[in-house]
Amino acid sequence: MNAAVRIDPETGLKVFNTRAAKASEKIAGKGYSVVTDQKLTELPEMPAGATFNAEEQAKYLAFKEARRGAADYMAMEGEFKKYLDDVYSEPPIPREALDDECEILVVGAGFGGLLLWQKLSQAGFTDVRFCEKGGDVGGTWYWNRYPGIACDVESYSYLPLLDETGYVPSMKFASGFEILEHCQRMAQKFGFYDHCLFHTTVEATTWDEASGRWIVETDRGDKMRARFVVMANGILTAPKLARIPGMEKFKGESFHTSRWNYNIDLSGKRVGIIGTGATAVQAIPELAKVVGQLYVFQRTPSSIDVRDQRETTDEERETWAKEPGWARARRARFARISEVRAAVLANDDYLAGKIQDFKERKKHDRELSREELMQKQLDSSFRLMEQIRARVDAIVKDPKTAAALKPYYPYGCKRPTFHDEYLPTFNLPHVHLVDTAPRGVSEINERGVVHEGVEYPLDVLIYATGFQWMGTSTFNRIRGRNGRTLTEKWETEGTRTFLGLHTRGFPNLFIVTGPQGGGGSFNFTDVIYAHADYLVWVLQTMRERGARIVDVRKEPEDKYAEHCRVVDLATAPLRDCISYYNGEGKAAPGSLAYYGGRQWDKYRMEAQSSLAPYVFGGDPN
Ligand code: NAP
Repeated sequence: MNAAVRIDPETGLKVFNTRAAKASEKIAGKGYSVVTDQKLTELPEMPAGATFNAEEQAKYLAFKEARRGAADYMAMEGEFKKYLDDVYSEPPIPREALDDECEILVVGAGFGGLLLWQKLSQAGFTDVRFCEKGGDVGGTWYWNRYPGIACDVESYSYLPLLDETGYVPSMKFASGFEILEHCQRMAQKFGFYDHCLFHTTVEATTWDEASGRWIVETDRGDKMRARFVVMANGILTAPKLARIPGMEKFKGESFHTSRWNYNIDLSGKRVGIIGTGATAVQAIPELAKVVGQLYVFQRTPSSIDVRDQRETTDEERETWAKEPGWARARRARFARISEVRAAVLANDDYLAGKIQDFKERKKHDRELSREELMQKQLDSSFRLMEQIRARVDAIVKDPKTAAALKPYYPYGCKRPTFHDEYLPTFNLPHVHLVDTAPRGVSEINERGVVHEGVEYPLDVLIYATGFQWMGTSTFNRIRGRNGRTLTEKWETEGTRTFLGLHTRGFPNLFIVTGPQGGGGSFNFTDVIYAHADYLVWVLQTMRERGARIVDVRKEPEDKYAEHCRVVDLATAPLRDCISYYNGEGKAAPGSLAYYGGRQWDKYRMEAQSSLAPYVFGGDPN
């Protein structure tokens, strides 16, 4: 067996062998099945002419206000730290602590890290090192292996490097297990494993002005110096728990969905799941197939749109085999679609390039004002939500359960979900919806969950309570110029970045898909492509200019942050509810996700042609 760390005699660079073995063969599964019952795969008719009038607006507002302040989450610390254990891999491969130097250090081996490696290595940057908390590649798809997991963006546009690996996903919405295998395929094909330190969590990243290097310290005792650091550690990385009095008392088994414990046999058991976001919506139909009794503790219903899963056809396989670059072309077409729903249900003929557009464009007699345009968008969101609510009534038999499953907020305000088996699950006699609206579960005891005086005894309790959005927890461990942390900077000045990738005072640090990090598409993969291409451009530009340090100027950073604030405010009525997207109603406008769409490209292109936002520096030694 190869040593965990060795030196390549040709390049003089370190080569790593730290990938951990899979913990158990029980960790396997599949995503959505293909549902053939047409009643389940189509939305009821759109209520023609319905508008988002004052009465409906009042209903949405009441739904929102009832939940204000209800969200209360906590990090997995102290006695809850056990929920973070890596249940998917064998223990870490032992290795020496590293006290050395590399050119580029990337945090994360998910889609971002994998794509960066392929692009950087192609551009001739080979002294690149990755640090990954997990035992293998995959990021989101490493940690999330709950039953039923699948992507919600069509896999032909979502999986990176399909052209380069020659892989064709088996389903339109590939299972998470298939996506994880694709991550491993990308890693094998491009030699990623040699560059990655697995089971290695970065704990501190400190800029050293004198040497012009970042000093990166890890939980494995490493102290590495890097010219550049790239944060590619995801947007929903740190799992969180709802803070519920008494949760420490529960005597049964419990886990969070992002560390699914396949060693616990759920068959015939009394199982409770707290939360009904995108994760729970996928997991609940699969749980119902196995458990004895299932209790779903819901605070806010998700919008359950149709899925329409299908297998990849033989015709597609044959066509794509003869069409180099098919996936790139398809992803580019996909990126032209700005509506979340249209994109998810995107027309295959359009995506395959057989027809020119994905929908018929309506012609207006005159240009609409901004207010009129907003009202039109709100009306169509309302009509779609009416269809989604009508779907609940059409499928769920018990009227009380159906009423509780209906969401009252604009489409896309909370993460939209897509499933054809979720709603029918609530017709099964052993599946119970416990409506905890609007404040949520408020008590757990030794035996299970208590709500409104009723005790629900459980053998297993599953937390489907989500993740910290935009991963700010790591930013308090990045110390830039003058010893200031990123969190301190953003807390005092407000979130300030240039393009989401740079932040002034933190030279040679790049944040991939972080706060304000646009890319023009809601397909995360598009965004990482845009960010990876941009990053390669910065590094090549520096190489050509003989520059060793890059920072950004104050004025363009301020201007960009203001732009983020303005586009967030301008589009906010479309997302008017309490959601993690808006920090549960508390985030400063423009401080989290980017809402400017393609305008990000305008800022990027201007910067690339003028170079005005950048301060390039030479090598201090
Ligand atoms: P989430 O959307 O944040 O859902 C957390 C759930 O916990 C919410 O339903 C929340 O209710 C509920 N909750 C919190 N405290 C509660 C309490 N005290 N009592 C009852 N319920 C409580 O988390 P998630 O489902 O893991 O999804 C996170 C994100 O991951 C998704 O939005 C998506 O971006 C991504 N994801 C993607 C896919 C995919 O692509 N297929 C699949 C899964 C996840 P409230 O709504 O009332 O706060």
